[in-house]
Amino acid sequence: MTARIGGRCGFVLTNKVKTIVTPTIIPRSEHIISRSNISENAVKVLYRLKQAGYQAHLVGGGVRDLLLGREPKDFDVATDARPEDVRSIFRNCRLIGRRFRLAHVHFGREIIEVATFRGADSDGAEGKRKIENGMILRDNLYGSIEEDAKRRDFTVNALYYNIANFSVVDYARGMQDLKAGTLRLLGDPEERYREDPVRMLRAVRFAAKLGFSIDPACETPFSTLGQLLADVPTARLFEEVLKLFLGGSALQTFEKLRHYGLFGRLFPATEASLTREERDFPIIFVSRGMENTDTRVREEKSVTPAFLFSVLLWEPVRQLAAELQEDGTSPLQALQLAGDRVLSQQLEVVAIPRRFSTPMREIWNLQHRFEYRVGNRPHRLLAHPRFRAAYDFMLLRSESGESDPQLVAWWTRFQAVDSEERHRLTKPPKGRGRGRRRKPKRTDR
Ligand code: ATP
Ligand code: MG
Repeated sequence: MTARIGGRCGFVLTNKVKTIVTPTIIPRSEHIISRSNISENAVKVLYRLKQAGYQAHLVGGGVRDLLLGREPKDFDVATDARPEDVRSIFRNCRLIGRRFRLAHVHFGREIIEVATFRGADSDGAEGKRKIENGMILRDNLYGSIEEDAKRRDFTVNALYYNIANFSVVDYARGMQDLKAGTLRLLGDPEERYREDPVRMLRAVRFAAKLGFSIDPACETPFSTLGQLLADVPTARLFEEVLKLFLGGSALQTFEKLRHYGLFGRLFPATEASLTREERDFPIIFVSRGMENTDTRVREEKSVTPAFLFSVLLWEPVRQLAAELQEDGTSPLQALQLAGDRVLSQQLEVVAIPRRFSTPMREIWNLQHRFEYRVGNRPHRLLAHPRFRAAYDFMLLRSESGESDPQLVAWWTRFQAVDSEERHRLTKPPKGRGRGRRRKPKRTDR
């Protein structure tokens, strides 16, 4: 291995003149990454780029996870080919992103993300890299692999697997941190969080997923810089929330985010209800929901964003609905009103597309309808397209002591039996249901 000279994370900064320290090259015989563990499509992309005369490296989570013996979620490629060059090489390629231009090479459902090496700041960068109050708003300034390594977030995410000789190239002592289980930002943590506050969420996500500890210098700024998340576009935070909670480590992530005071930056109303209630009675609903999500991910069952958000926002909805009911509002109306208010506040922080917020509202509103077990209503509810999600939600509520276990048992049985038995179960008791049928209240529909 090449000897290295001083300079944290492999870079020496002298009066803004950047001297790049020689990388550590780990030859094929000294690491465990094998082409057979890389997706065939990613290997294809790497070779095609190489054949076209470009540099081609696997980078990021793919390299990190393979070195840890884990299965990567996806494969990212870094190259010196410009996005337009990448497009001309692959027919199945689309260029995406204005803020950070990338090429997506499509193979059926798999997408290989190809990024051009980002460059260091230089004269003439205007228009390509846009920075406002320290935050990078656009970065389409290209450069060398050394410069690219420095633009990445964590040292363990800046390892490159070179398809030309199958070596791993380490510019930032990523291998050392990988072995120690440390997440360390490249460069000055505060500056890097200011450039992109989402890196704070990424730190917590990777720490939870990999069981790594965050380097103290990288966790200290969370308390002072967490507020910068308010400047991140709400649509980007939506994408990040999905990554935080649908990656299989939702519970750990949730607990860590709360520990660092970052959960409240994303879900202020939920955080407020959690802190308020915890003084008397610990709320376990959200934790249960996160645990449940992780189990479903592990079992490869579907987890929809609508269900996820219905869990994350339920506490404030439930509490507000209870307050409204105390003031005389009907149960269903209280739920609807509380849902409206909590959702509209939440949308100021994290965008939730309508295709998810509508079913989320339905899951909440249907909770009230489980109370009715006589006559036609249970049959209608069972036929509702959102029945299954609403039932799962009720199950979760009962597991955390919030809804009646007998009610859940009844609905579990009601679903399992045949239609004849269902009609028997919903038959009004003798003496009821005769004479004129009572019209259902409008609000019940
Ligand atoms: P995973 O795909 O498992 O969630 P990942 O590390 O691959 O983790 P991606 O979001 O796929 O994460 O990004 C790929 C790589 O791009 C990262 O490993 C990192 O090197 C770089 N990267 C992504 N987001 C940022 C960011 N906000 N700032 C700096 N570098 C980033
Ligand atoms: Mg990735």
